[in-house]
Parts: sequence; structure tokens; C-alpha cells
Amino acid sequence: MSVLLSAQRLPQRRRRRQGDVVAERVKQRTEKFGEEFSPASSRDRSDSLKGVARAQSVSVNIARDDADLDAIKSIADAYRAELGFHTRQSFLESLSRRELFVAKAGGRIVGFLRFHHTRIGHTTLQEIAISPAACRRGVGRQLVSELLSECRNRDSPVIRLSCPVDLPANQFYGNLGFRRSHRRSKAGKTRPLYQWELPLRTARPLAFVASVTNAPNDLRNLIPLWEKEGPGPRPFEHCIVTPLFIEPRTLSYVRHMREKWGVRIWFDSGGFFVQQGKIRYEDLFTRLLDFYRAHDWAAAYVLPDYVPTSKNSPVEVEERVRVTAAEGAKFQKRLPEAIRSRTLGVLQGHDPKHLRVCLDSYNSAGVRQLGFGSFDTGGGNGEINLLTREATLRLDAVRELLGEANEAGRFDADIGLHLFGVGSPNLVARFAEYGTNSFDSSGWMRTAGYGNVYLPFQGRRNVTHGASAVTCGPGLSAREFYTLCEQTGHDCPFCTDYRRLQANRYVRMWHNAIVFGEMTRAINSRLRALQEGGEDG
Ligand SMILES: [Zn+2]
Repeated sequence: MSVLLSAQRLPQRRRRRQGDVVAERVKQRTEKFGEEFSPASSRDRSDSLKGVARAQSVSVNIARDDADLDAIKSIADAYRAELGFHTRQSFLESLSRRELFVAKAGGRIVGFLRFHHTRIGHTTLQEIAISPAACRRGVGRQLVSELLSECRNRDSPVIRLSCPVDLPANQFYGNLGFRRSHRRSKAGKTRPLYQWELPLRTARPLAFVASVTNAPNDLRNLIPLWEKEGPGPRPFEHCIVTPLFIEPRTLSYVRHMREKWGVRIWFDSGGFFVQQGKIRYEDLFTRLLDFYRAHDWAAAYVLPDYVPTSKNSPVEVEERVRVTAAEGAKFQKRLPEAIRSRTLGVLQGHDPKHLRVCLDSYNSAGVRQLGFGSFDTGGGNGEINLLTREATLRLDAVRELLGEANEAGRFDADIGLHLFGVGSPNLVARFAEYGTNSFDSSGWMRTAGYGNVYLPFQGRRNVTHGASAVTCGPGLSAREFYTLCEQTGHDCPFCTDYRRLQANRYVRMWHNAIVFGEMTRAINSRLRALQEGGEDG
């Protein structure tokens, strides 16, 4: 089904001049470090959701009158090349199902939107078209807005549509907050289509789970530093450790963070160590089960997994996937009742078939949270900031599988997807696209050790100016650093003294943890705005 929104022009991006304010604040923050100040240009920020011309004196209603069909049909016919051919009878059927909106201005029909609530519960936007004379007046947006209300009343979880890749309407959907799922052509059709969807049920907010490496000495220094200078009760809401492979001291620091700060602790399985050949899978299974049975205080328990490596043959990969799925389910059943609702099953494998084996097995064992890890990240200068094509495809496969399972009613809508071992903050912004509700990273500690700091949605930057073994591009000056802080809205007590930030890795670690928190908050408020918005520009 093709969809058109003719000649909708992209909103003229509104520009706000913030340069002067930013320059003044950077100047204030920099001067104490004796650097010469020169104003840096700050990027204009625009807000793509604002600035769309509001439709005036256009009303949108469900079509009720057969007499409206001629006008609707004639608009559709005007866009026959884009929409394909639709009979009057088909519009009549939509009208009788109350699945057709008309937009009227001055008593005349200027546009329509046809949709369908499917049997499995989601909503398809079939066509939308505006008469050429009424374009660029926000009519399309108003029609979609009416559809949103209709879907909310029906409790439809998602609106889907497809649109030929060559039509400008694709931009319109992107601006409205639709997410493009993947490019696909239906069998027998030669015209490539983009699939778009707009989830309507409240997505669970994205959570940053701080991965704590086995570094008890770091924690010994970090904890009192936060308790003395931290700007809030805790630096993060969640933290993940691999209990079988850390020193008892590390575990006691983690317990401290739980009991004193209210951090929620996740236990990782240590499947990585099986992959590394440090422990046999069978031993991991038994030891992990003993440990989990003895510690019922964690917020999440990752089931044991048998991680395939790139060196495995296809047969070996298959076997590891099978073991992960079947033994994981068995493990789940052996856990005490009280913690069974807090387990997380790891989806292993490289193709959709593997992922499905894991998903089905966990599903039947009652696992409520899934995790996915197979990221291949890389980058020339060690700056890990791109999801590789392979990893993106796997994430697409995971998302599709979960979507299918949800629609078939095999999971509740609130099944969670956690992403393991995320290297860089640059990636975080894209997670919402994949239905992720949590991710972990050890980058906040690790990169600080190499003299680097993060800033929201930026790569890591070196501040120690080559004093450490691994650097990342030229070191930042205080002015450059504070300019970036202003541009990204970062604010924390650990970086107010730039010389200290350069000299003290613990200060850099807390700064980095705060940056991760700022990013997840920014993403969550954008998600909320998307879900609450819709009615208004
Ligand atoms: Zn900071």
C-alpha cells in the first residue's frame, strides 16, 4: 500500500541565536585557567517539531457522508502515480468501517486519510493526500494528529505505514516522529518501500547501567569522592558486575552502593569468560546457580550463556546457541521463585533463526527481560562510535522478532531489551530506535583511565594531553572543553576545575558517569515529548 503526502514542505527550521550567551559563559569558566579567550561559534539549535505552520480553519472529522466520496476519489486520482489506483467501492468500505478522515476548509474537502485497525490490533495508515491547492497548510499533520487520537482511544500499540523510497513524504513521517524500520519490497512489487512505524504505548524509559570492572582500588577511591562531592544521592540508578569473576572487595563496594546510595545491582553471567576459555560452560552454570541462590538482593540476574566466537564453525555456533537457549531455560527453573521474575536471557547467535531459538526458549520459561550483545564496533583511531552494518542488521532482526512475538501475544508489551557492552556514548541516541530500555557500559571508568572524558552525544576526548598511553585526537584546552560543556549542556562539579580533571582519573570517572546520566535523561525527555505530543506542533 503506498502512501503519499504531496508536496509537504519541510518546516522552515527555526533558529535561535545562543552564541552570545554561550560565549560569555565559556569565558567565565575558562578565564581562571589563564587561557586567552576568543569566542567560538556555537551551533544553532533548531527544533524540528516546532515551526510547522498550523492549519487554519481546517476541520478534520471521520467521513460519514457518501457524498464526500467523489471529492475524496478525485484527490486520490490526482495522485494516482504515487498512491496507485483505488476504487470508489474501496473508499465506501473504509467509510462504512469509520476508517476514513476528511479534512474540510470552507466546506470543501481538501484532504483525506485512510487507515485500518488490523485484527491483531495495530493500525495501518493506508493513504493520506492533500489537494494541491491546500498543501503546505499543515493539513497533513492535522490528519495524522486525528489518527493519533483515534488510535489512543482504541489502545492501538503502533501505527505502521509504507512509503515508496523516492517520495518526499518520507521526510514528513520522520518529522512527525515515525521511525523507519527497514527497507523492504513486497513480493511481486518492484517499487522499493520504506516501512515506518510510530509506537503509541508508553515506552519504558532508557536506563544507563554502569558496568563496574573488577577494580576494587578504583572503587575504594571513587566511593568517598562521590560521597563528598557528588551532586546527588547516586551517580547512576543501576550498576552491573560479574560476581563470579570479581574480588570479594569489589562485591562489598557494590553492596555499599546498593545499601547506602540505593543503586540497583545487576549480576552478569560471565559468559565472556567461557568464550575466553577461562571456565567451562558447565562450571559456569553450576557456580552461577549457587551464587544466585545465595544472593537474592540483586535487581537483575543474567542467565548463563555460551557465547559463540568468530572462530566457531557454523555447526559450533548452532550448538552454542542451542545450549544457551535450552540450558538457560533449565537454569531459570532451578532458581528460587522469588528471583525468577528478575532474570535476563541473553539472545545469542548471528542470524534470526538463532535469535528465535533463544527467544522461544526463554519465553516458554517465563523470562521477562532479554539482552543482546553482539556488537562489532570499531574505528580507525580507537574512537568507537559507529554501529557496524552487521550489528545494525542484527539489532533490526532482534527488533523484528520482538515485534512479531508481541503481536502474536507471546510476550506482554513490556518485554525489555538490554544492550550489553556499549562502547561509546555516541551510540546511545540510536537505542530508542531499537526498542531498547537499558544498556550497560564500562566506558565511563575505562576511558577515564586513558585520560579521556565524554561529553553528551560526543566521542571521547583526551584532556591529559598525551600523558597516558592511549590518546584520542589532540588534547582539549580548557576553553575547548568548556565550550563543549556549554554546547552540550553538561554541568557537573567534577569538571569545574580543569587542572584537576586533567590530573585525577577518579574525577574524570564521575564526570563521565554523570554524562551518561545526562544523555539518558535527554533521550527520555525526547521520548516523552514524542509520546505526549502529536496533537500539537
Ligand atoms: Zn563534568
